Amino acid sequence: MTHPAQPKASHFINGEYVEDTAGTPIPVIYAATGEQIATVYAATPAIVEQALSTAKEAQKAWAKMTGTERGRILRRAADIMRERNHELSVLETYDTGKPLQETLVADATSGADALEYFGGLAASLTGEHIPMGEDWVYTVREALGLCVGIGAWNYPTQIACWKGAPALACGNSMVFKPSETTPLCALKVAEILIEAGAPAGIYNVVQGMGEVGSALVTDPRVDKVSLTGSVPTGKKVYAAAAEGMKHVTMELGGKSPLIIFDDADIDNAVGGAINGNFYSSGQVCSNGTRVFVQKGIKEKFLARLAERTGNAIIGDPMDEATSFGPMVSENQMNIVLGYIEKGKEEGARLICGGKRADKDGFFVEPTVFADVTDDMTIAREEIFGPVMSVLDFDTEEEVIARANDTEFGLSAGVFTNDFSRAHRVIGQLEAGSCFINSYNDAPVEAPFGGVKASGVGRENSKEAIKHFSQVKSVYVRMGDVEAAF
Ligand code: NAD
Repeated sequence: MTHPAQPKASHFINGEYVEDTAGTPIPVIYAATGEQIATVYAATPAIVEQALSTAKEAQKAWAKMTGTERGRILRRAADIMRERNHELSVLETYDTGKPLQETLVADATSGADALEYFGGLAASLTGEHIPMGEDWVYTVREALGLCVGIGAWNYPTQIACWKGAPALACGNSMVFKPSETTPLCALKVAEILIEAGAPAGIYNVVQGMGEVGSALVTDPRVDKVSLTGSVPTGKKVYAAAAEGMKHVTMELGGKSPLIIFDDADIDNAVGGAINGNFYSSGQVCSNGTRVFVQKGIKEKFLARLAERTGNAIIGDPMDEATSFGPMVSENQMNIVLGYIEKGKEEGARLICGGKRADKDGFFVEPTVFADVTDDMTIAREEIFGPVMSVLDFDTEEEVIARANDTEFGLSAGVFTNDFSRAHRVIGQLEAGSCFINSYNDAPVEAPFGGVKASGVGRENSKEAIKHFSQVKSVYVRMGDVEAAF
């Protein structure tokens, strides 16, 4: 019997499901058991062509609709997503292995927020009138045209919506390629947009690995590429986009600092460290994986952290009591276990976790290392798993310098009860998305994105509009033209 997660077909183009089994088969594995639950096929060149030509054509009429009309469709899609939250959350759990306890509140709901927010903004995307004496200039905020979205595997519904919603609000069309590890959820987003009244062809989904992504990025008809992925992939995609002078948004990896001063509320700081390291089993780009703790509270912090980490309920992600699920894939599990071994070899002190959980599926225990030093591999490289490194520090000046000593710059957090210190420190941290006495909140109203190697551009908020539109300026002369001859 077909598994309920098996989609009707691999791709969604021009308002309908499309199959082409000539493409490379991509098995979809349920991370909690290791069983294959679905198969999709990578897009063949014919499928890529169909998606791009459809999206290119559909964009013209979509951009001509009023913002109010476009916004209404997006807001209807948001309502449908919320009505189907349970079903979409179950699918998200099949796609990623993340516990239903999380997916019920963080995935389709976050996607719906993006559709609602950008749907609401669509009608207010206007230009300016600039008086020039008798003459004047007016500006028009125009769509870029055809946008390509490429997703990572940790938030397949959210990424499909965080890219799709602002793109569509501005009058663009999109071809979205999900990660080959989690190909299912974006198809539902495409289906729901059609149900909400979107014209066929403005949001298409094609499956595939890097080659398909690359075929999309290099196509001359594409005006913009928005990637969520790792830094090495980001460098390749950015370079390919530059070749065609395309707009880009790069949402890449991180190794973010979370700084805990000794006047912080310990339980809140422990909560922040847990949210910033163990949510989605640590597979979150903005995670604060370098937890700098001021020496005065270090042992107290570690004791409380170990105690609370011991309360994680690791198990069947479909059981709503489960609070900690598996890694997305066997491959990712092995990468994370490799980093844990490195941490042990390089002399970090294991506080808890440190091995594969004794279960079917790709579970790694939530792991905390203390006495981590700045040069250890686990403190330098993005692990993308539930491995927290706790480092000690003495002074504010010292911790700021050490926190910034990384190629990445996605996020940063500070816990302290001294508010002038909180703002002073955050002001000096090289990061795009920051938190004071909190960690990893990502509401659609707030800009999200990184500096340094962590990325270019911003998602969410009004900032995202700037990255999915361009400004035309028009000088209007009221009098005669003066010329030299
Ligand atoms: P990845 O870089 O391996 O893949 C990302 C996507 O790029 C996939 O869809 C992949 O098929 C595609 N791709 C690979 N090579 C390509 C190429 N040459 N041209 C075009 N597309 C190509 O990343 P991943 O393993 O799927 O995800 C984990 C990474 O994503 C982590 O580094 C994480 O930090 C990052 N991430 C960042 C954010 C953010 O918003 N900043 C959010 C989630 C994940």
